[in-house]
Amino acid sequence: MKTTSEKDTIKKIAILGSTGSIGTQALQVIKNNPDKYEAYVLTANNRVEELIEQARKFQPEVVVIANEDKYARLRDALADLPIKVYAGPRALCDVVAETPIDIVLTAMVGYAGLQPTMSAIRAGKTIALANKETLVVAGEIINDLAEHYHVPIIPVDSEHSAIFQCLTGEIGNDIEKLILTASGGPFRNYSPEQLATATKSQALKHPNWQMGAKITIDSASMMNKGFEVIEAKWLFGVRPEQIEVVVHPQSIIHSMVQFEDGAIKAQLGMPDMRLPIQYAFSYPDRIKTDFPRIDWAKCSQLTFEQPDTKRFRNLQLAYEALHQAGNMPCIVNAANEVVVAAFLKDTISFTGMSEVIEKVMNKMPYIHKPSYEDYVLTDQETRIVTQELISPYKF
Ligand code: NAD
Ligand code: MG
Repeated sequence: MKTTSEKDTIKKIAILGSTGSIGTQALQVIKNNPDKYEAYVLTANNRVEELIEQARKFQPEVVVIANEDKYARLRDALADLPIKVYAGPRALCDVVAETPIDIVLTAMVGYAGLQPTMSAIRAGKTIALANKETLVVAGEIINDLAEHYHVPIIPVDSEHSAIFQCLTGEIGNDIEKLILTASGGPFRNYSPEQLATATKSQALKHPNWQMGAKITIDSASMMNKGFEVIEAKWLFGVRPEQIEVVVHPQSIIHSMVQFEDGAIKAQLGMPDMRLPIQYAFSYPDRIKTDFPRIDWAKCSQLTFEQPDTKRFRNLQLAYEALHQAGNMPCIVNAANEVVVAAFLKDTISFTGMSEVIEKVMNKMPYIHKPSYEDYVLTDQETRIVTQELISPYKF
């Protein structure tokens, strides 16, 4: 039994997207540290059976299933336990505001993360941010809200966690440049012809990371790196030209910071998302783990290349969206979500994805200073426009 004072020091964590790749790894971190963390809220979109299993194991206070059709199954399966059960997107926004929660881990995928993240910030919760799409879509709004409510946003994305770790202890020292590393994905050495016919199963085989399907496709197309450039701008307050991408196929250096004296700090480690997840929970402390360590006898080469934005057009498109700002990153995000879903259903080719995104960027009305409502409308309209443009790009 835990004593009352022990219980008070246990951080209560809400995991949005607990059945996903980040969500399940976060639960491993919680399981490894029962004296420090407790799963207070667990949520999923569709995978109700996995959510039931997690709820029985971790006994959270609340569970939410976003898909309302699965509510009855969830409620009935947990009827013997004192767990509150809710359903629907609105419930996601409500539960993150519950008083005892200390940290909200945004581990859901896509634009759907925006509203609950805003709701959690308004409730004053520390955000452990995995859902990069939220910052891509509405970074300015999120930053303004976080400043207003004095809420820390701690990055979980491995590159941004690396930068965050490099910046610890550097208050007052200006950043000259951020260097984001990229594995290059499974198609790093593919010719343009090979890329044009690349299949879903090839794209889903990432060389270094096990991740959800959407981010794995984004990694193969390098849209993920483009989004990470935008994410870095909002997290670290740098100008676009201060963010450089370097391809580093071994994924050992997770990213670097170059300071004004020319010194560069890097964070290294095995590719394992549990470390950045745990650091976001424990910051500024570090907690002992038994995660695999680098074996320097096996790690004989760290190599670096320039990204090829001609073959990987998405990286260039993301930089363009970042420079144009306004609602353009929101347009790129929505178009990308639609084309990735289509690619996963084999209804668009790999290179067709970039071609459609570029067309959508030229077609959608540009808004220089969007409000939240503008982002909502931009997202909705972009999805319709993208869907209409997809059909000619079938295999
Ligand atoms: P995933 O597909 O494995 O899991 C997504 C989770 O979100 C699932 O629990 C799912 O039920 C939930 N979800 C999906 N759509 C939802 C919706 N509309 N409403 C509510 N819940 C929804 O994805 P993942 O790989 O864990 O990635 C999650 C987020 O973290 C993404 O934004 C991704 O870019 C980011 N991220 C992931 C990794 C990684 O290693 N997996 C690394 C860095 C950043
Ligand atoms: Mg990353």
